[in-house]
Amino acid sequence: MVNRTLQRVPEKLKDFSDKNTLKFINRASHGDWIFWMGAGRAALKQQAIGAGFTLFRATGAHRLASRITRGLGAILMFHHVRPWAGPSFAPNRLLEITPDYLAEVIETLKREGFDIVSLDEGLARLQSGGSANPFAVLTFDDGYRDNLLHALPVLKHYRAPFTLYVTTGFAEGTARLWWLELEQAVRGLPHIELALGGTNYIFDCRTAQEKADSFNRLYWLLRVQPEEEMLQSIHYLAQKADIDGQAITRSLCMNWDEILEIAADPLCAIGVHTLTHSMLAHRRIDFARHELFESRRIIEAKTGKPAPHLAWPVGDPASAGPREFALARELGFASAVTTRPGMLFPAHAGHLTALPRLSVNGNWQDVRYLEVLLTGAPFALWNRGRRVNVA
Ligand SMILES: [Zn+2]
Repeated sequence: MVNRTLQRVPEKLKDFSDKNTLKFINRASHGDWIFWMGAGRAALKQQAIGAGFTLFRATGAHRLASRITRGLGAILMFHHVRPWAGPSFAPNRLLEITPDYLAEVIETLKREGFDIVSLDEGLARLQSGGSANPFAVLTFDDGYRDNLLHALPVLKHYRAPFTLYVTTGFAEGTARLWWLELEQAVRGLPHIELALGGTNYIFDCRTAQEKADSFNRLYWLLRVQPEEEMLQSIHYLAQKADIDGQAITRSLCMNWDEILEIAADPLCAIGVHTLTHSMLAHRRIDFARHELFESRRIIEAKTGKPAPHLAWPVGDPASAGPREFALARELGFASAVTTRPGMLFPAHAGHLTALPRLSVNGNWQDVRYLEVLLTGAPFALWNRGRRVNVA
């Protein structure tokens, strides 16, 4: 588990030219991962991977490697798409990009020779062993209103098909965006005291820097608790800060009318993202089965269309593993995407409920970074050459 306090994310990729050592860390939050540079501690392996990334840009080695490492294509993962509001404390910024950057991503995919295809088409290409061009599938998680307001116009402009994975409890305003509740609690409180697992923790949260450090520590302390305790603790902090969690959900997530509006666009396919956005590997199998079965049933009833595709909430190995992958198969899902980083290879046709994705990270909105990722070379290093990671 990597400590989020290690994160000091530079604003722009131009910082890659910095003489500081580039390091590479896995941020298991939402399975996302970031490149990070500057002073700090990192494992030798991470340094080796980071140095390799610097080398890619300097030598173009990623271009040479791409024939082997790019595979058949990639499923790209997005969350929020909206103009940047620019708060100094923004620990969840990795989960949002601007509409302009979404357009740049699409332009970059085209320039790099990718066909932008629907998830169904991507899966067909995966199962048939691919086609002349690599393919890219665009996916958006959770069901944010900004997807309708800011992403859809860009997607329509480029006629880019996309899949929107909807958490039904977000659409109903009942499920909790707990990572945003935590962010708002840390933003609002100058001081936090919290008892977790028999230990009392105290955090100073006066300055933006203290808030960032405290959020990182709190996030990881909470993530290793049983999910229900994590949710209770965040609810406690939110109450202290006078924050209404369901109001956050209602202000940020599409309601059913809005989901049906975006779903009516022929470019859009609605996928399943559970009832409550629970990390299902933490839960009993019956709970997980109900979350998958019932959320699909609701989405199909609302849209009048089959919803055979699933995205695992949070989606890292601690949130969805072999038990969940088998459960999705048992329930007849045609595919399920994780947030494990990677490109798609023919072998993934045998693991359609455990597909990797390429996260479009809001901390790194620079196409030079994306170009390297699209070669698949960083993933090959990160996964130590292993193309399929389903354990
Ligand atoms: Zn999600």
